[in-house]
Amino acid sequence: MAANLQRVAERKAQTYDALVTKLIAALWNLWATATPSQLWDDTFAWGRAARSAVLVESALRQAQRQSRSYAMTALRSLDAAPSQIDPVEYIYPRFDTTTLEAYQRPATAGRWAWSQGHQGEAMDAVRDRIEQLVEADVRAIDNREQRDTYAATPTVTGYRRVIHPELSTSGTCGLCIAAASRFYSVRDLMPMHDRCRCETLPIVGDEDPGLQLNDDDLARLYGAAGGTGRQELARVRIQTVENGELGPILAPEGQKHRGPAAAGHRRYREPNRDDQHRSWQRMRETSQTWADQLERAAATGRPQTFTYLGRDYTVEANPEALRYHRALVERMTANLQAA
Ligand SMILES: [Zn+2]
Repeated sequence: MAANLQRVAERKAQTYDALVTKLIAALWNLWATATPSQLWDDTFAWGRAARSAVLVESALRQAQRQSRSYAMTALRSLDAAPSQIDPVEYIYPRFDTTTLEAYQRPATAGRWAWSQGHQGEAMDAVRDRIEQLVEADVRAIDNREQRDTYAATPTVTGYRRVIHPELSTSGTCGLCIAAASRFYSVRDLMPMHDRCRCETLPIVGDEDPGLQLNDDDLARLYGAAGGTGRQELARVRIQTVENGELGPILAPEGQKHRGPAAAGHRRYREPNRDDQHRSWQRMRETSQTWADQLERAAATGRPQTFTYLGRDYTVEANPEALRYHRALVERMTANLQAA
């Protein structure tokens, strides 16, 4: 049973990795050829963000379906599949932030690096930000969907993080080793961290395959080293901090973090269906504003200036950006109609 579940979790981790890699490549493809002046061009940056928002939502929906199917497989092999469960419902995991706003940040990161005198690293900063955003978004929606699937199952008492020793030793999930025996209730979001590759397994009655797998993995990892590794591990202290957008994050103890108050954010709460509805409306409105201005710029042959949400923008004709914004408006309209 445990061996079977381990294979299922490994396959899931591979599918996850493939999806993340593909989405990062698709987004990087949009930015890779940008010139410095384009990074400062709002028309360019918001056009890229609009295209990204469409790609990200599709990928996150797919990730969510894969998470549901993984969690159902795990439950089935524990004879605990729920007799009924709501269909997967898409909700972007960041609190009080739309996909459009989040995926404009690669430009901001590039501008920042440039303005600090690191011109040669501006595009690296763009790429890093894309990777960070994608890794966090896919992990967050994936974790939440696994949790929700377990929560719909009355016999599930909680769940565990399933570590991947091969990734943990390379440092990717070092923190997760320290969290390997933690218990999460089905009301809790599992704290994640940068580039986390952990999956989860449910606890049903006395059956706790996640803990067993983690124990076996850690014994394999450290058994040969005569226990020194385990002592090292015991020294790692972790804490859970709250990120204003993403919720619980795993961090080394003592590490300072920007708390929600310090960042001027509202306190994090899990976004719900109403939030998602408002988020789609907000994106539709933003891209509609851009599309209107871009159309006017094209029709008049003159740059247009406008103020949106307290910021001034100057817009020159840009057929590509116009196409991206129109596509986003269309997608948001379809989402709102289907909701
Ligand atoms: Zn991890």
